[in-house]
Amino acid sequence: MQSNCNHLRNTPGSGDVSSSTQSAHAARPPREGACHHNGDVHIQLSAALGDAGDHPSSRHRTSTSQGPSQGHSHNEARGPEDSSLDSEEHSGSSISELRYLFQWLHKSLPYILILCVKLTMQHLIGISLGIGLLTTFMYANKSIVNQVFLRERCSKLQCAWVLIFLTGSSLLLYYTFRSQSLYYSLIFLKPAVDFSNFWKVLWTVGITDFILKFLFMGFKCFILLVPSCMMSFKSKGYWYMLLEECCQYYRTFVPIPIWFRFLMGSVELERLGVLLALFYFILKLLSFSEHLRHFRQVLRIFCTRPRYGVSASKKQCSEAEDICSICQAEFQQPILLLCQHIFCEECISLWFTREKTCPLCRTVIVDHINKWKDGATSMHLQIY
Ligand SMILES: [Zn+2]
Ligand SMILES: [Zn+2]
Repeated sequence: MQSNCNHLRNTPGSGDVSSSTQSAHAARPPREGACHHNGDVHIQLSAALGDAGDHPSSRHRTSTSQGPSQGHSHNEARGPEDSSLDSEEHSGSSISELRYLFQWLHKSLPYILILCVKLTMQHLIGISLGIGLLTTFMYANKSIVNQVFLRERCSKLQCAWVLIFLTGSSLLLYYTFRSQSLYYSLIFLKPAVDFSNFWKVLWTVGITDFILKFLFMGFKCFILLVPSCMMSFKSKGYWYMLLEECCQYYRTFVPIPIWFRFLMGSVELERLGVLLALFYFILKLLSFSEHLRHFRQVLRIFCTRPRYGVSASKKQCSEAEDICSICQAEFQQPILLLCQHIFCEECISLWFTREKTCPLCRTVIVDHINKWKDGATSMHLQIY
């Protein structure tokens, strides 16, 4: 009877044993109990595993040939202590990285400051002009809002001064940089600017945005100067709102040709430029549809001028002791809200430029806030 165990006979070269495994066995005799079942590679693998234990360099190669079941048992063998140790190590390393970053920043601070001073000096005109435009805008915006709030008591002289100040600032700016013809960008024409220079393009976009704001603020000053007998306070509020919405809508269009020229300007990257310009155009189209919906809503409000309630009768006013809770004076054109509270029409109109609810009982009266009726102009800088 023939035995199944080849090691008993010790016949070399029997079975489908690979040469590498044979060479691994060549240095030592085969282990007891390791059988070649008609050339089964399994025996050689376990023998090789034993060998690999002695040689760390060959461990990886052997473990990859073990299959998923052995890999799983290896993971289980690690235990929770190992993983918590790993997380502690990880947090420790992240803290040391942070510390290193902080140290680097601390050492680099003087060099960064030197570079900042150099950059500031290089763009001194641009930076100081930007600060000047921002302060001009803030001053004019605050003045207009104050004058609108004062209603009949507003100072016509102050309104005229703001109008002159804004016109003068805009004209002075365009005169100083007349060689660049920056005003062309107001009406989608090409100014004499180097469109391959990003900073020049950004400068043109920023200046145009500020000047457009000044222009529409000037229109608001004109409305402020209109006597109350010709245009009521309420009507003026709707005009401020419409002007501001028009300004914002127009400002979203104006930078398009400027950025298009910048994106398409590079000859070396013509295809990439076309692709980027296309993406820019698609994004702008998406934002326009949203803006258009909002603009239509504002136009509808401007045309219909919805009232917040009905006119209150004398009896209703006397029941409310003839005193408006907002201005603490006698009712002027009293309006009865849904919640049965009465206010002057102008008082409650002003209130609803910021709130949606009744000032006394907090019942929701309007579904949206009619912003910009107080004469304010958006601070948002339309860069793209
Ligand atoms: Zn009132
Ligand atoms: Zn109420």
